[in-house]
Amino acid sequence: MAEITAPRGVRDVLPDESWKWAYVLGQFRQIADGFGFSEIHLPIFEHTELFCRGIGDTTDVVEKEMYTFEDRSGRSLTLRPEVTASTVRSYLEQNMASRPQPVKLWTAGPMFRYERPQKGRYRQFWQLDVEVLGSDSPLVDVEVIELSLELYRRLGMTNLEVVINSVGCPACRPAYREALRAYLRPHLGELCESCRSRFDRNPLRILDCKNPTCKAITEGAPDVMDSLCDECSGHFAAVRKGLDLLGARTHIDKRLVRGLDYYTKTAYEVLSGDLGAQNAVCGGGRYDNLAESIGGPHLPGVGFASGIERIVLTMEQQGCSFGREPALDAYVIAVDETARDEALKLLYALRREGLSADMDYQGRAMKAQFKSASQAAFACILGGDEVARSVVALKEMASGNQEECAFDGAAQVIRSRLGR
Ligand code: AMP
Repeated sequence: MAEITAPRGVRDVLPDESWKWAYVLGQFRQIADGFGFSEIHLPIFEHTELFCRGIGDTTDVVEKEMYTFEDRSGRSLTLRPEVTASTVRSYLEQNMASRPQPVKLWTAGPMFRYERPQKGRYRQFWQLDVEVLGSDSPLVDVEVIELSLELYRRLGMTNLEVVINSVGCPACRPAYREALRAYLRPHLGELCESCRSRFDRNPLRILDCKNPTCKAITEGAPDVMDSLCDECSGHFAAVRKGLDLLGARTHIDKRLVRGLDYYTKTAYEVLSGDLGAQNAVCGGGRYDNLAESIGGPHLPGVGFASGIERIVLTMEQQGCSFGREPALDAYVIAVDETARDEALKLLYALRREGLSADMDYQGRAMKAQFKSASQAAFACILGGDEVARSVVALKEMASGNQEECAFDGAAQVIRSRLGR
């Protein structure tokens, strides 16, 4: 029988890598908490309709990339391809309007998209996400962008480019859409097949097509900045001013439209110069009409999502530190069978004292036990002689220094040597 493997496009994150994820998550949590955000846990699956209406029927995500299934009672459910729509759904359903506004939330977890897998692009991937709901102030856009940049700064990431744009609002976008169609119409036959089908349904998406011919054609497309209404251009100017004030360097990219329909006004991305084709580490912006599109009242919102796999890839590429690789405080070694019971007692005494400790249960040779101990700060060695005298031989693995201490005092000695 063939061995069962994981589905295409998903990965196992093994211990050699998971500690790096934990570091990134820990930094993210600390910064988000420090910016006054609170954690929210949201479901992994939702009613399919939430994403169809929230993200937009004509987006790639909804048209081609969702993992949709019927549950046993015939309801159509979808594994979340992103978490903004769920956050807004939760805000409405849980009546978060009754809390002090704006509501500032962060979350982290897996998302699912049926995309063509490649380096930095998976079918299950993790996002770090923040959302601010209930404020239309441009200073909130600045706060969200700055939070992402502070995270990358704290992680030691460099060679990043922050691109920003405004995608307008329902008042000014129709005019831009028409101006874009008028410009593209004579070139319709030259566009790629997807862009030809986008022309009627969602022409803005043609601006971020990666096909070289489409790219060359859109080079001379009308500038969205020229079509913005007073409110959108005022908002954009205020966001730029706020970012300048904080010293965050951004470039305007008039082709930045983002893949999801719900964006209004600010759209931004952070690109890594060390990632190759899938170079976006972060994408976000404002989505003032999302709540209405899923049947709620008007509710302004702004947020970002950043892919943890791409953050870790960039950090590895750039030789960034992930903090200290986890190591045991102590590894208990029984020299022979006579010391096994005492070794077991010592192991649990150390663990009860809050130290991380482990030992061998297989009766392996000393050499093998010492090999395991080399990953720990201390080896606690027990032989018949030590057991008879109620002492432990304590070996500091880094220096090789060995000392003897009382069996009952071992935890305290280790702790004091570790400076805890
Ligand atoms: P998006 O929701 O498409 O704006 O994506 C936000 C961020 O999530 C991107 O900037 C990436 O860092 C990450 N991301 C999106 N799709 C994938 C994927 N298929 N695999 C890995 N990371 C992804």
